[in-house]
Amino acid sequence: MDKVYLTWWQVDRAIFSLADKLREYKPDVIVGIARGGLIPAVRLSHILGDIELKVIDVKFYTDISEHAEMPKVVIPIHGDLKGKRVVIVDDVSDTGKTLEVVINEVKKLGAEEIKVACLAMKPWTSVVPDFYVFRTDKWIVFPWEEFPVVVRE
Ligand code: 5GP
Repeated sequence: MDKVYLTWWQVDRAIFSLADKLREYKPDVIVGIARGGLIPAVRLSHILGDIELKVIDVKFYTDISEHAEMPKVVIPIHGDLKGKRVVIVDDVSDTGKTLEVVINEVKKLGAEEIKVACLAMKPWTSVVPDFYVFRTDKWIVFPWEEFPVVVRE
């Protein structure tokens, strides 16, 4: 699969663009999905004025009976979300399975309203984010995934 590389600058501009859209929604809580959603989630929580940040970690695993890759919650959301306006933040919605699981968890915790914000989405995803910036069918390499080559004298 072809790759596309995003720089910190591109990502930061994208986060500011998401923040502009989210100001109208006025979320009470950001739910960041580990790992890829955490950097945008932390940044958004500061830009939007110290909004409460909660974390969930969802990992893909192969169900022995189904032989299919299914996402599973490995770190659940702490506390409840009763009556809260929630925005779920991830790096990219690819198959959409991760977001399906997280939306379900957020609903179970009593959120009043739920929106999804991602830096990017793939055209085939089952969950089109309410807010996103990039749309690509390529594999995205985010700046926090790269290791610069350090040249020593
Ligand atoms: P899903 O397929 O459930 O929508 O995506 C699961 C997770 O896989 C995403 O949250 C992200 O961390 C990772 N992922 C999916 N597509 C990409 C991609 O193009 N680039 C990177 N870096 N991670 C991806």
